[in-house]
Amino acid sequence: MQQRPIVIKVGGSEGIDLDLLCDDIAALVAEGLPLVLVHGGSAETNRVAEALGHPPQFVTSPSGFTSRLTDRKALEIFEMVYCGSVNKGIVERLQTRGVNAIGLSGMDGRLWEGKRKKNIRVVQDGKVRVLRDSWTGTVERVNTELLDSLMGQGYLPVLTPPGISVDGEAINIDGDRAAARTAGALGAETLLLLSNIPGLLTDFPNEDSLLREVAYEDYDAAMEHAEGRMRIKLLGAKEALDAGARKVILGDARVAQPIRRALEGQGTTLHGAPQSQEATS
Ligand code: ADP
Repeated sequence: MQQRPIVIKVGGSEGIDLDLLCDDIAALVAEGLPLVLVHGGSAETNRVAEALGHPPQFVTSPSGFTSRLTDRKALEIFEMVYCGSVNKGIVERLQTRGVNAIGLSGMDGRLWEGKRKKNIRVVQDGKVRVLRDSWTGTVERVNTELLDSLMGQGYLPVLTPPGISVDGEAINIDGDRAAARTAGALGAETLLLLSNIPGLLTDFPNEDSLLREVAYEDYDAAMEHAEGRMRIKLLGAKEALDAGARKVILGDARVAQPIRRALEGQGTTLHGAPQSQEATS
């Protein structure tokens, strides 16, 4: 059996250093580690959207999760940045470091398929409203045959939203949750969620308040500390653990050797359910 891959999701927030990340990937690939990279692009998308006169808007669901409001124009700008400048920028960085990276969106080859949610419920001014014509959804199926075949041929997949609806439309999906699905579908042992913070902070934004370990049964207590986007990250982490990953590590992508450091346990490690630990050991 092939070695189980490590799925790495790197965010798109300010401060993330993609050069340091790609240095680390190149070194780990040279050591024979099978990797899949998923990336975001939120800060750059916000800049481009402003420049194009279609400023970003964010909405909060009744259950308290924040996401980008994605109308057709916002989707097109999102694609320009995620699938264009950010994806190709990472592929170029990896190729110049000798890694045969291949960049794909979740639409290509129906890599990340799910249902489109045309109408979404959001909270505005304390009231729940329905917004129509949303180009968003959630990944329900990962094309693992495509990923296995690429990795089997020695390519390193560099994956990014959007995904694809069952009807073939582009859907904005959450990158952390898509990475979690991918880790589950590939049977990955570890999922790394790297961002512009050291991990989960109990007293955000005080970086000295890093929570180092979260046992599976303490997940709900950990969620209490999270605000905004961190809540979706933790939701993704739980989904990956429930899909069979042994651990999910939230780590810092602003530093040298971000992957190696996270694998050494320098961020927040969320552990899977005890029985799944036994089943996979
Ligand atoms: P990325 O796009 O890089 O994946 P996100 O913006 O999705 O990152 O999520 C990380 C952000 O979550 C941090 O930059 C921080 O602003 C926010 N956050 C909210 N609560 C916390 C917390 N308790 N600990 C750490 N980060 C938090």
